[in-house]
Amino acid sequence: MVKARNILPVTGLVLSACATAAPERPNVIYVFPDQFRNSSLGFWNEGEYAAQVGWRGDPVLTPNLDRFASESVVLSDAVSNFPVSSPHRGMLLSGMWPEQNGVVLNCMSERPESSLREDAVCIGDVFSAAGYDCAYIGKLHVDFPTPNDPQRPGHYVNDAVPEWDAYTPPERRHGFNYWYSYGTYDVHKHPHYWDTAGNRHDVNEWSVQHEVSKAIDYIANRDGGRDPGKPFFLMLGMNPPHSPYASTDDCDLEGYELYKDKSLSELLVRPNADTTLAKAASARYYFANVSGIDREFGRLLRALDEAGLTRNTIVVFASDHGETMCSQGITDPKNSIWRESLNIPFIVRYPGRIEHRVDDLLLSTPDIMPTVLGLAGLGDRIPASVAGRDFSAVLTGEGEQPARPRAALYLRNLDGERDAEGLVRGYFPAARGVKTDRYTLELTIDRSGALQRVLLFDDAKDPYQQHNIDPAAEPELFAALCRELAVLLRESDDPWFRERTLAGIVPYDNL
Ligand code: CA
Repeated sequence: MVKARNILPVTGLVLSACATAAPERPNVIYVFPDQFRNSSLGFWNEGEYAAQVGWRGDPVLTPNLDRFASESVVLSDAVSNFPVSSPHRGMLLSGMWPEQNGVVLNCMSERPESSLREDAVCIGDVFSAAGYDCAYIGKLHVDFPTPNDPQRPGHYVNDAVPEWDAYTPPERRHGFNYWYSYGTYDVHKHPHYWDTAGNRHDVNEWSVQHEVSKAIDYIANRDGGRDPGKPFFLMLGMNPPHSPYASTDDCDLEGYELYKDKSLSELLVRPNADTTLAKAASARYYFANVSGIDREFGRLLRALDEAGLTRNTIVVFASDHGETMCSQGITDPKNSIWRESLNIPFIVRYPGRIEHRVDDLLLSTPDIMPTVLGLAGLGDRIPASVAGRDFSAVLTGEGEQPARPRAALYLRNLDGERDAEGLVRGYFPAARGVKTDRYTLELTIDRSGALQRVLLFDDAKDPYQQHNIDPAAEPELFAALCRELAVLLRESDDPWFRERTLAGIVPYDNL
């Protein structure tokens, strides 16, 4: 069992740095729906894009994202290293691995040890210190829920037990001075939010639509919440597509019109998709949300155009993680190394600085914070605590090019033991894996530390991951991938490295 550790010294230098806002600094908008498959972007079926990947895109209509992609660098192989909400978000916000930033498991009231460290220097802290106005709108899900309801002190924010949702007080907002957010809550057409002052807003509108309207109001500064003398950094965390997507109560209705008359075999076109799973019917609602997000994202971009800000605004479209959507015979949408769970959209537009192309950069989640800071010209402010690397030079093609990553790390932690009060203590690092440009390897252990399962795929020959390679049949390949894994586990000071987990096959001390 791994105890939560707070080992990295966190520098306060960034926070105390005194900078004047350079007026030419770009604005930055980072939009990330929660469970948005990279395959669910219509353009992957177009020649230029299809030629870059071995899998086919879903039969979805995403005209706004297609147009945006044609003006952007589109990453085909970006990775959500721990593809579940809170751990991804902790890495996204801090640039650190889960154990270092504190978010080692999905945050909820029975896991007190999984929560974003208050002293972690996060992306909002850095932008704020660099003179930015910083806004967070939508789902956050990185805090341990406590009974801190601002309207009902001493209570959780909802009466459900255990509690997943959370109110984030000002001291935990990491540099975001404009706030309109919640922890996690899945009633998509009746969402709620707490604003900067802690007032709660209950809304009867599809959450994505409501949040884009709030973002447009923020950009236009309709409520005076933004300092117009500063550039802005806006993070927009949309919950959909996120379960449930089981009925028209859960999905965008305009989007639903596009898919409601299609058969499941018309919607689930991959050879690894099982249309007989009970989950298969969710495809219509899932794709409805995809097209609804596309429409709302288009509305956001038009507002940026109308405000005359497009040219000086970096816009990123990404996701928390994927959604397996009936592949591999499993119903679990995420928290697995399958490509459809691990791979996320990552599309970056920066007019005049980034040329359109598709790139197979193996971007990891901890790389996002330094790369976004680098794009904004703040590369010299990347905190020492950041484990990821700044790949902005790869995206722009300007300046000295960093070495490209050979591999990306995959992590899956499970709950540790429960104490007498039923609270989870520590965590169990159940699986570790590696994704390279060609292969996927996952090693899963049981609670005694013994090898339980190996997944090994040749993603070039088998893009739908239907043929698990027996390591005994490919010993050299298996050894080479275990070596890549050992390098990544050592670099990240992972508990598998510290405890030499599966040392018989992972060569930690022989690199
Ligand atoms: Ca999620």
